[in-house]
Amino acid sequence: MTETGQNYQVLARKYRPETFADLVGQDAMVRTLKNAFAADRIAQAFIMTGIRGTGKTTTARIIAKGLNCIGADGKGGPTTEPCGVCEHCVAISEGRHVDVMEMDAASRTGVGDIREIIESVHYRAASARYKIYIIDEVHMLSTSAFNALLKTLEEPPPHVKFIFATTEIRKVPVTVLSRCQRFDLRRIEPEVMIALLSKIATREGAEITEEALALITRAAEGSARDATSLLDQAISHGAGETTAPQVRAMLGLADRGRVLDLFDMVLRGAAAEALTELQAQYADGADPLAVLRDLAEITHWISIIKITPRRSRTRPSDPTRPVAVRNSPSACRCAL
Ligand SMILES: [Zn+2]
Repeated sequence: MTETGQNYQVLARKYRPETFADLVGQDAMVRTLKNAFAADRIAQAFIMTGIRGTGKTTTARIIAKGLNCIGADGKGGPTTEPCGVCEHCVAISEGRHVDVMEMDAASRTGVGDIREIIESVHYRAASARYKIYIIDEVHMLSTSAFNALLKTLEEPPPHVKFIFATTEIRKVPVTVLSRCQRFDLRRIEPEVMIALLSKIATREGAEITEEALALITRAAEGSARDATSLLDQAISHGAGETTAPQVRAMLGLADRGRVLDLFDMVLRGAAAEALTELQAQYADGADPLAVLRDLAEITHWISIIKITPRRSRTRPSDPTRPVAVRNSPSACRCAL
């Protein structure tokens, strides 16, 4: 991808959070966990939910490190500030700790897989303080697998912790949910995301305009991982400063002004004109889905202006782009 060749590590991996302090935009969860650790009231099971890329499995690993960290001097107890250098922290970061089992329920959904876990919980941890089971996409487990898991969740041995992650919390049985401490990982707010991306770009020695960062942030819809991957592509595309038009082309987005023209044609009922314009945008590389999303956002923005005019301020840097829309990728979804 870049001149650094083989040593090149994708940004999403390179800047994957290693500590709670690195986890941006999840302040409520971090505060709750810190209090629980400080009061020595650490739950037996956690469940993280949120859209993809908000850091569920990353958080699971950080909790696992915090639970098993022994500190640089080998004498530390459970902490919300894992040292990152002890044998446990290092092995967990690299995904190769014998007492931290990671399983993807999407590929192992059967009762047999869960039975394997259940049989192993009674053995003590091989080297760490806790034996930790991280089950990703836990909602994919079969009913019989959930039932088998439930018995263990009711009375887990004290040396065992479960950390579940799911994108679809509604599919997780209440009986399981009620035995877990639940954390809802939020979509990262646009301002927080832009600040994060801008920090990464600076560290990478890459120049990128704020408008380009705003476009990436909007496309990532609150997912730090997606945003970082897009930033990666954007800065490897451009020589010198990466600009908004470059990012727009990369994302298959039509020019903002042209989408407004198209919106105008649709509202006027000029079907033939609108179809010709859409065809032209498609020919210029715009992704039809992105165009539709843009149209939906404009509709949403105009609704906001009509209902709450005070929110309709525009930003001087991009007068066609309303602040209310740019700053609320999640709010826009209600219009879709
Ligand atoms: Zn450590």
